[in-house]
Amino acid sequence: MSDANHPWYEKGLHFSCKQCGMCCSGTPGYVFLSKKEALLIAEFLKISGEDFYQKYVRTLADGRISLKEISPSYRCIFLKDHLCLIYPVRPTQCRTFPWWKSLLSSEKAWKEEKTRCPGIDQGPLHPYEKIQKELDSAQEA
Ligand code: SF4
Ligand code: SF4
Repeated sequence: MSDANHPWYEKGLHFSCKQCGMCCSGTPGYVFLSKKEALLIAEFLKISGEDFYQKYVRTLADGRISLKEISPSYRCIFLKDHLCLIYPVRPTQCRTFPWWKSLLSSEKAWKEEKTRCPGIDQGPLHPYEKIQKELDSAQEA
């Protein structure tokens, strides 16, 4: 039984990224980032903010910004040979995966994501407190 005080994952969850890159390609989607994150990535790439926006960012109708993806595989523009070219400064959305509200909303959602991510239910146990911290930082971003 799961409730607000006792979420279904209260004993922690296993996760270890296998660096397959599947979450960074394969289906159309958005990798949202804040304007602050955009500037950090530009700095990491040693280019101006203006250049960064022009080359790597798309702006949605509601004003949010997302990294561009490359057709036909919908690969994130920063994914190369299964590796993230901006790993140390990747957006919060990437950094906090799989500790997302949508994936932790139910065990069913978590298991469904497992069909796409081979790292789920593998590797070390991540304690509940750590998961909650990541979840909070994902929501604040
Ligand atoms: S799909 Fe999962 S295992 Fe593969 S790169 Fe993404 S997080 Fe890592
Ligand atoms: S920024 Fe890096 S981690 Fe995020 S989707 Fe692109 S390649 Fe993947």
